[in-house]
Amino acid sequence: MSKNEITFASLNLAEPLMRAIADAGYTTPTPVQAQAIPLVLAGGDLLAGAQTGTGKTAGFTLPILHLLTAKPATNPRPGRPRCLILVPTRELAAQVEQSVQTYGKYLSLKSMVMFGGVNINPQMKALRGHVDILVATPGRLLDHAGQKTLDLSGVEILILDEADRMLDMGFIRDIKKILALLPKQRQNLLFSATFSDEIKTLSDGLLHNPGFVEVARRNTTSELVEQSVHMVPQKLKSHLLSHLIKHNDWKQVLVFTRTKHGANRLTEKLIADGIPAAAIHGNKSQPARTKALAQFKDGTLPVLVATDIAARGLDIDMLPHVVNFELPNVPEDYVHRIGRTGRAGSSGAAISLVDKEELSYLRDIERLIKREIPKVAIDSFVPPTNIAEEAPRAPRPPQGQRRNSGPRTAGTGNRNQPPREGQARDGQGPKPRQQREPRNPQQREQQPRTGSQPRNSQTSAKPRPPQKPADQQHLSEAARHQAMPQPALFSPKPGVRRGR
Ligand code: AMP
Repeated sequence: MSKNEITFASLNLAEPLMRAIADAGYTTPTPVQAQAIPLVLAGGDLLAGAQTGTGKTAGFTLPILHLLTAKPATNPRPGRPRCLILVPTRELAAQVEQSVQTYGKYLSLKSMVMFGGVNINPQMKALRGHVDILVATPGRLLDHAGQKTLDLSGVEILILDEADRMLDMGFIRDIKKILALLPKQRQNLLFSATFSDEIKTLSDGLLHNPGFVEVARRNTTSELVEQSVHMVPQKLKSHLLSHLIKHNDWKQVLVFTRTKHGANRLTEKLIADGIPAAAIHGNKSQPARTKALAQFKDGTLPVLVATDIAARGLDIDMLPHVVNFELPNVPEDYVHRIGRTGRAGSSGAAISLVDKEELSYLRDIERLIKREIPKVAIDSFVPPTNIAEEAPRAPRPPQGQRRNSGPRTAGTGNRNQPPREGQARDGQGPKPRQQREPRNPQQREQQPRTGSQPRNSQTSAKPRPPQKPADQQHLSEAARHQAMPQPALFSPKPGVRRGR
């Protein structure tokens, strides 16, 4: 049977799972499900390359529910899970556990979610009862293990979900500590959107003769996502965004900002413009994050402003609009960001607001996704006059690096400890000292902008004649743009949106 012909019925999942699948409205397994489910059911280890949006959660949840039901626990004890699913962020933890409940609703297995930033006592209470499947972020899990409220000696199946992001966030030491607490005999599944050398090292040490599944080529963007760039000076971005939301009557927009402070400022500005919005990032309390996400998902909150880490793994179906308020430093993050839209077969639009100082980031992204993103002018936008000068923004780390993903030195004290969820950062890993932003946001604001200058002289070169290879044509465009006063890209009169 070819991969395309695989049906849920042919996967031999238990009847209660088939009923839950039917209730969810799924008719056909996605490619990652079609390939991963038989491998997991066979009991082997698995290395899977799949991004959020591919249906990977059901790809591991359905077969583990089947396996755990088919084989009763040998030594059931309170607080002793049989399956551990490790994830990088709180939101993903909540989402994955929700999937476990959805697909396991006709089974009697018990699941639990565990993450930081919330009171530990209810988790301790839950661990005094029976738990089959535990979905956890690494930090809080280790807190429980340290306090002996959690017993990991009965784990039969381990899943590392979004393993690449866990490594990006500096969780490798936590992961190693957790692995040391698990029994040697177990089934291991590793899901990752990308396969870096670090992931290869981790999988080599963890997996035994793994089956391999890779569904979406990495660093590709979905054809269903209509991508566009609006060139706009930084100080006009919030005005343009308000205009776009109001003018086009956007009902559900996920906006990415580079910093938590930037997310707060933008949210305040949108609210002042009469657009309901909420920010979601690591400095927000977990209840506030959960509430904002729930309201955004159910359509009562039209705009959610998020940092990369907070938004990672968010499963929001058929999201119509994703806006990059600033381009990410790391081109791969662009692919992750716009993966929030055009998902599960629906189309979506990814709009990037790009200041001329960000052109080198744009070029890196276009190189990665191997296509040029059309620059679109918004004729209907009339920039306001008398705009207050923006306070200088936080400096960017060197291009191509994440804010918090710098190298670490092992064993040199607390500053190198992996992050704990709930600490006053995005749940991200530690930063190398020289790249850290000041803790005090005001102090951060006063810093001059340094890192977002164009990287090389090409971007500020004189305009070139057309009819060049694509790459050079783009440079010409960039150069032309730089030579142009940016507000002139917008018509003084309201009109229609037009292409370049
Ligand atoms: P994930 O990649 O696990 O975050 O899943 C992305 C979305 O796809 C979720 O909203 C799932 O409910 C949905 N989904 C998963 N499997 C299927 C399927 N076989 N058919 C249709 N939708 C699915």
